[in-house]
Amino acid sequence: DPARGPVLEVSGIVKTFGGFAAVKDVSLQVDSGQIHALIGPNGAGKTTTFNLISGMFPPDAGTIHLNGTPVHGLPANRITELGLARSFQITNLFEGLSIYENLRLSVQAKHPSRFNLWRDIDSFPDMHDQTAELMKFLGLEGIDDIQGGDLSYGGQRLVDLGIALACKPQILLLDEPLAGLAAAERERVTSLVRRMAENIPVLIVEHDLDRVLSLSHDVTVMNQGEVLMTGAPDAVRADRRVQEVYTGT
Ligand code: ADP
Repeated sequence: DPARGPVLEVSGIVKTFGGFAAVKDVSLQVDSGQIHALIGPNGAGKTTTFNLISGMFPPDAGTIHLNGTPVHGLPANRITELGLARSFQITNLFEGLSIYENLRLSVQAKHPSRFNLWRDIDSFPDMHDQTAELMKFLGLEGIDDIQGGDLSYGGQRLVDLGIALACKPQILLLDEPLAGLAAAERERVTSLVRRMAENIPVLIVEHDLDRVLSLSHDVTVMNQGEVLMTGAPDAVRADRRVQEVYTGT
């Protein structure tokens, strides 16, 4: 029964760029209810792995299954439709639209009646309710009218995560969600990721090691395109080889 297996199963993926193997035989799996961290020094192959999983380009070899469905080789938009959402460091907000409008657009995109919504948007109160609920979940209620472009950097990151959530994904890929944030904002985004993960499994790449290890249930460590180890955060913290690749000693 594929529904009982991992939500995401990556098996032996390979990606070579002009003779250089950026990803060599990488396998990992994310189970439901789990935050899985993908860590490793610069150049380890984390971004390439994310690009392969989200369908930016196909793997040269290996397989990727989403809830038991093979997705390797499918275009990115198809993988998104099958339930994979990816949030980037670069913010996706429409600067001239309010926070509410930004989020409602994403809710709208997933609405069963999306093709005739332009006719009479007010006859779909559930869309308003879903958007309001999302604003509340993000802790942004009460500032609905602020324009995307006027929001703080941390606030924009929250809305970005909300946009990914509005797609009702089966799994969420987070690309350095804490990068560039001040301490208080990091705290807020961390707590939001923790709450999101109660409903949606998360695969996260993040450079803040202490924070990502304290957030995760399971960790895959990459180095030079390969998986160095997979294990619980405590095992990763204690592993001599992991310390070596990070400190170069
Ligand atoms: P990380 O995200 O862990 O820092 P990357 O996946 O970005 O690692 O990169 C892994 C290796 O692959 C690096 O040596 C990088 O230079 C190389 N690489 C990534 N993308 C390309 C590309 N499009 N063409 C050539 N080399 C690439």
